[in-house]
Amino acid sequence: MRRKIVAGNWKMNGSRSLVKQLVSTMNSDLTGLDNGVEVVIIPPALYVSDVIETAERSIQVGVQNVACWESGAYTGEISAAMAGDLGCSYTLIGHSERRQLFGETDEQVAAKIDQAFSAGLTAILCVGETLEQRESGAAEAVVAEQIRAGLAGVADEQWQRIVVAYEPVWAIGTGKTATAEDAQAMHASIRKELAALGAPANDVSLLYGGSVKADNAAALFSQPDIDGGLIGGASLKADEFLSICRAVPREY
Ligand code: PEP
Repeated sequence: MRRKIVAGNWKMNGSRSLVKQLVSTMNSDLTGLDNGVEVVIIPPALYVSDVIETAERSIQVGVQNVACWESGAYTGEISAAMAGDLGCSYTLIGHSERRQLFGETDEQVAAKIDQAFSAGLTAILCVGETLEQRESGAAEAVVAEQIRAGLAGVADEQWQRIVVAYEPVWAIGTGKTATAEDAQAMHASIRKELAALGAPANDVSLLYGGSVKADNAAALFSQPDIDGGLIGGASLKADEFLSICRAVPREY
């Protein structure tokens, strides 16, 4: 059964006081939420413990990245096992900022997914095309290749620990959003690609990300293949993030 998920990626933003203020507001306001959405907060790794200590049970916590390796002499890296040890249940993998700013390759993405599995984490694999790729008509092919490269090694029950976030690079942090129809078309194509890889494609949650706000979330989340969102900037404001969580429809 696929889950409805709204995950907030704080990127390199926040402070201990933001954790207290935002997570406390979320704790009290989430109690009335009855649409079954799973809410995930993904703060900078240094604040994971603060979020876990402040969050009540209905909030899951994740990290924004994990190392390709299990442990060892990799100064500055954080392992998937460490994230699991702190109480995280999710990790982002292959966010476009990691791919573009830090040169993360498809091979590293696949290795990180393996590490996430070993640590019992659910991996949110981020995929998406650039504006140039969209304008040249290559968007679906680019995303399909990212899916194949990241997920070709996934088997059997491991699929339960995969979530895919479609985030067109041109929509991240820009205020531009894919139309609900374009996003739906890409999500349907991702589901086909997952099926071709042997996944139980109808059971894999697919999230949309890229300038999702309270006022566009409902249109996106009402699409049949969109199971929630990965939210950047808007996840740093409790009221906005809560409105986005509320925008997930109760039934598919
Ligand atoms: C993101 O960082 O994954 C993201 C979708 O950012 P924003 O919502 O700010 O576009």
